[in-house]
Amino acid sequence: MECALPPVELAAPDIEARCAGNTGIDHVTSFDSGVPGPHVLINALCHGNELCGAIAIDRLLRREIRPLRGRLTLCLANVAAFRRFTPDKPQASRCVIEDFNRLWSEEVLAGPRDSVELRRARALRPVYERADILLDLHSMSNAAEPLVLCGQTGRARALALALGFPRWVVADAGHAAGRRLIDFGAFAQPDAVAGEGGKVALLAECGQHWAAATAEVAFALSLMVLRHAGLIAAEVAAHLMPPLDVQPQPLAQQLVEVTDVVTASGDGFVFAGDFVDRQAMPRAGTVIGYDQGRPVRTPYDECILIMPSRKTVRGQTVVRLGRVVTRRDG
Ligand SMILES: [Zn+2]
Repeated sequence: MECALPPVELAAPDIEARCAGNTGIDHVTSFDSGVPGPHVLINALCHGNELCGAIAIDRLLRREIRPLRGRLTLCLANVAAFRRFTPDKPQASRCVIEDFNRLWSEEVLAGPRDSVELRRARALRPVYERADILLDLHSMSNAAEPLVLCGQTGRARALALALGFPRWVVADAGHAAGRRLIDFGAFAQPDAVAGEGGKVALLAECGQHWAAATAEVAFALSLMVLRHAGLIAAEVAAHLMPPLDVQPQPLAQQLVEVTDVVTASGDGFVFAGDFVDRQAMPRAGTVIGYDQGRPVRTPYDECILIMPSRKTVRGQTVVRLGRVVTRRDG
């Protein structure tokens, strides 16, 4: 039985009005302050149906945000998929041919394959390579609290915790199906290799794809990163900051390390219950689902289920399993 889709509260922005670009690459806008400082890149629409990032970028451009130092680049990635977005079939426009956010390895980018997404990825590659700090804005199928994925570097972890929002910071190694943009090249270099000032990338899951609050989270996180990097003044960020209805107050930020990624070996993965995102399973050995009939169990007590997927496809991530390693009271 098909589940009812959540209501579409967000409207797709007109990306030709302000976001068409000024760099020679369509839908990439960049502003240089002329003053030394980091190059911050805010990226949206890796997935064409995730409107929040495009709305945040449109809003930054509408507000005429310009960097006080360094460079600010605003990029809309899978524009071809986004153009297929319609509110009556909002889930259909995630990609045209393949997932833009699974292409970010040298073998795939420099390999012989071709697709709409690969062509766009190859065109955008130098844009991503020039950035020092990447905020990649995404959203989720299920209604759940926002989270930030920081990959495996200590510097991305530190950035996520320095922002102080959202409450959930998740350190993980990505997906079996292909490398994500945040894991691309210098962003994923080990801290010891990257050294002081190494490039850093965060992927924000801002909330449910089409919920009004999700766009506010995307805009707020953009402001937080720009303020943290010194590209905008604290007063400007405070003035523009949308009210965020976050619970609990004060915010206790926690870092969760993903220990296991459950990948469907066939199309027959079935969850053993109606689990919600970030649900903690108290006991080790609890069966959470069946992969081709084989039980999948929690490996330890207080195991957290991260982003269980309603639609399971062979070779794709079904759920990540993690544990809380740091809890900081706000
Ligand atoms: Zn996404």
